[in-house]
Amino acid sequence: MDRRSFALGTLGLAASLASPRPTLAQSPAYRGPNVILVRFGGGVRRAETIDEAATWAPYLRHTLAPRGTFIPDLRIDKLEGVNTSHAEGTLNLLTGRYLAYRDAGEFLTDRLEPTEPTIFEYLRRAYNLASHEVLLINGEDRPQEEFFTFGAGDHFGIDFRSEMLSLHRYKLYRTREQLAESGLTDEARLALEEERTRLLTIDPRGTTPEPSPEVEAFWARWRQRFGDDGLRNPRGDRLLTELATRAMAELKPRFMMVNYQDPDYVHWGNPSHYTRAIAVIDEGLQRLVSMADADPFYRDNTIFVITPDCGRDANPLANVPFQHHFNSRSAHEVWALIFGPGIGKGVLDNPVDQSAIAPTIAAAMGFAATRAEGRAIDGAFL
Ligand SMILES: [Zn+2]
Repeated sequence: MDRRSFALGTLGLAASLASPRPTLAQSPAYRGPNVILVRFGGGVRRAETIDEAATWAPYLRHTLAPRGTFIPDLRIDKLEGVNTSHAEGTLNLLTGRYLAYRDAGEFLTDRLEPTEPTIFEYLRRAYNLASHEVLLINGEDRPQEEFFTFGAGDHFGIDFRSEMLSLHRYKLYRTREQLAESGLTDEARLALEEERTRLLTIDPRGTTPEPSPEVEAFWARWRQRFGDDGLRNPRGDRLLTELATRAMAELKPRFMMVNYQDPDYVHWGNPSHYTRAIAVIDEGLQRLVSMADADPFYRDNTIFVITPDCGRDANPLANVPFQHHFNSRSAHEVWALIFGPGIGKGVLDNPVDQSAIAPTIAAAMGFAATRAEGRAIDGAFL
């Protein structure tokens, strides 16, 4: 696509966004707190995260937990067909239900898309918020998580999607821009076209819809800062922290989910990858919270919800320890921490179900997650 047709495409999108859509036009402005949902992800056990003595996340456990409602016994229900895994757990968090997903395409495996409304969709249906004010920050090598921004089926859908920031999205932006620039050698053009085709193949939704103008501008600044070679930007979960903090500064999201993931590299067998990755997320939390504490847009007006997607197995005899696909008890045992304005301080001793997270966020933001199975955690609110 050349610059002109891209510009027209953008205008077309702008025009379609401006055209009357009763639900958005009539919905009120959002005046509630910002919510930042941090998926302490890639599957983590309580033992290495919230155990007071053994934690690899000391900032989370010792500094953040006393700031709010700490739920040491969040559980993933043992229902028939429930997998303790990343996409599944993330969609449980976003929909407030179990099993609310399906394969995203007939040629794909392990690509789930929600079949029930997500927090993104509920929120944008209830309030007049632009797509870039509702953000999903995704990891680099998880194109299977590019499908969470809106769901399939007859619920709210694409009009109420979130915007997504990920290195995959940036590469789609960059290859499109580079191909539109003059002075490319034939060889460079061919390489770029191949790269772009590869990107579009692993993510069949591709560029539909194109990012909003605000997100285009975000990527333009990112490109200016980190360039085209992919060597200058942080990698792994540090990249997610960079995307999230830049998004907070530049896009001012009212709801943002950050999908940390790197503890999952333990699938390859090295336990230190797991504990090191937990420490990196803990450092990321420190940056996110410090930024929120310092910026007037977020300070005293932002609720953090921090919770894993799933736990991990605890079988010390397994060839490769720390898996999470065997339906073991510790893979169902997670936790949550919620802090911010309106949230009480203390430890909730009773078990809480993972399906309570979405309705709790809904209650904090003032909408109803009508299709959620769980109920808001009463004890979390002042
Ligand atoms: Zn995994």
